[in-house]
Amino acid sequence: MSNIAFIGLGNMGGPMAQNLIKAGHSLRVFDLVPQAVQTLVKEGAYAATSASDAVIGVDVVISMLPASQHVESLYLGEAGLLHSIPPKALLIDCSTIAAVSARKVATAAQTLGLDMIDAPVSGGTGGAIAGTLTFIVGGESASLERARPYLEKMGKNIFHAGAAGAGQVAKIANNMLLGIAMAGTAEALALGVANGLDPKVLSDIISKSSGCNWAVERYNPWPGVMENVPAAKDYAGGFGVDLMLKDLGLAAEAAMHAKSVIALGELARNLYALHSAQGSGKLDFSSIVNMLKKPDTAQ
Ligand code: NAD
Repeated sequence: MSNIAFIGLGNMGGPMAQNLIKAGHSLRVFDLVPQAVQTLVKEGAYAATSASDAVIGVDVVISMLPASQHVESLYLGEAGLLHSIPPKALLIDCSTIAAVSARKVATAAQTLGLDMIDAPVSGGTGGAIAGTLTFIVGGESASLERARPYLEKMGKNIFHAGAAGAGQVAKIANNMLLGIAMAGTAEALALGVANGLDPKVLSDIISKSSGCNWAVERYNPWPGVMENVPAAKDYAGGFGVDLMLKDLGLAAEAAMHAKSVIALGELARNLYALHSAQGSGKLDFSSIVNMLKKPDTAQ
């Protein structure tokens, strides 16, 4: 069993850390929010007082932070965490960030003799709790093999996308499609309901027809259609509108970099930006349905 530092215990990091504890590992945890740390302490983790306290004596460092700037400011610079991490420790960053940031941090780690992979995840908070996440890894094959036993305790599928940063590129392509699919699903349900259909009946029909997709089948945005999804909890928890907006912004950056066309991705980015600007940034992204359905539509 290993000593693991886990930094960033939010909607995703919290349950991922819990699964590592359940698997018998010793965890030293840190988050800027003390309550998030206390939840893990109840499960048996050590409450570190800072990120550098968390990495003392560990074999593995895992981070799960919101965005590129958080990851860069945690690891890089003269006071950056890279300088406190024990030699030979393995670094796994599971945050969804820009590929350029992932490469920058991995290169700095390598310069100090530390192996690092980017391992962004797919599967949402449900997957994090159940330990069924998909990990999309960028980095050396040997580093992935070192990470595999830990990733297997938090997820079911592990893909090697390529060199450092490749995990992030694959993840962004996936999330751009998810953002488009959710907005499209919400629009289709709103159209049906506005024309007199029951949203559950329509969802059942689409789920067994050619419009079937993950959003309609597993993460339905219409309240009352499905239990245990954010739509059943006033869109609390889940994957925030602002995080989806961040990912669509990363897709736009990657598209500019490669001169590729993302017409629907840009349209989706604008829809989520408007939804966020109207005060819904912290709600789950499936709440985009509220912006697309007719105001007089029954729940
Ligand atoms: P979150 O906002 O719930 O959690 C992030 C946590 O990081 C917070 O608790 C915050 O306090 C902490 N944090 C920020 N800076 C820190 C620092 N310097 N030191 C210690 N802790 C710090 O976000 P989340 O939903 O857990 O998402 C985390 C990452 O996973 C994001 O990059 C997101 O895009 C990605 N992701 C999220 C989902 C989802 O469904 N929520 C799914 C796949 C991927």
